[in-house]
Amino acid sequence: MMLARATAAEIPLPGAQPDASVVLHPLLCAEVTGPPGWFHRSGGRAAGLKAFGVGVPQAELIQVPIVAFLIEHPTAGAVLVDTGFHSSALTDPRQNLGWLGALMSRGLKMEPSQTAAAQCTSRGVDPQEVRFIVMTHLHFDHASALVDFPAATVLVSELEWQAANARTSTFGGYCKAQLDPGLSYKTVDFGSAAACRRGPFERTLDLFGDGSIALVDTPGHSAGHMSVIARLAEREALLAGDAIYTMATLRDGERPWRVQNEARFEKSVQALRAYDEQNPQSLIIPGHDMAAWKELDPIYS
Ligand SMILES: [Zn+2]
Repeated sequence: MMLARATAAEIPLPGAQPDASVVLHPLLCAEVTGPPGWFHRSGGRAAGLKAFGVGVPQAELIQVPIVAFLIEHPTAGAVLVDTGFHSSALTDPRQNLGWLGALMSRGLKMEPSQTAAAQCTSRGVDPQEVRFIVMTHLHFDHASALVDFPAATVLVSELEWQAANARTSTFGGYCKAQLDPGLSYKTVDFGSAAACRRGPFERTLDLFGDGSIALVDTPGHSAGHMSVIARLAEREALLAGDAIYTMATLRDGERPWRVQNEARFEKSVQALRAYDEQNPQSLIIPGHDMAAWKELDPIYS
């Protein structure tokens, strides 16, 4: 297998417009069912088994959204955040999602019209014109459809890139087959001089240098997880990714069964909590919360 290669991104990217605000399209790409104990850790001896669905009746499984976001910037163009599921996840799940991903994608429901590419097209954006894809992280349920955007530069944190390309990455939730070697990958480094504090977040990167889109260092769910802040006309939207699976993780103290690093995860959640308190108007979108997803509008400007 040919390996995908990455080089360092130069942040800010070109395309800035002073005081630019963006348009945000949340895209529901697929739904799967999952054991509640995976998303909200339960107590007791069987918690681990329950997290993997062992002994959990079908009726107790919850609906889990698989999502992506299209952001339209007035001068920099179309930016995708994550990619949802590729259409082949439906026809050949093991090939696209890997054996672990296929196993974890029980009850998959998706229509071909739901892929991020199809939804970009139906919203007037040619997938070939998507310039950048910001990956919150590279888990199989986020990176599945990268190949549908051949002209895009894929931006991912340096630590995440290393984690996804490690020898044993399959066990961490990655599927290397999704990292098509034909794409252009650029890594961002929150340890670089371009990184700065933004509110409660210690390390952020201003993607275009105009404040419209910020990458936020929120590690812990995975090694190099990041969230994204998009500046809408009158408020901000924070795409939290899997730094919080659900609003209950943010506000009610629920914790997922498994994280890559507990201490970093907790620090990221605390920063998100502080942001939530300091920005009550902001739209915060968690990674896999169907109830929160159903509350969203089709478009935000
Ligand atoms: Zn994940």
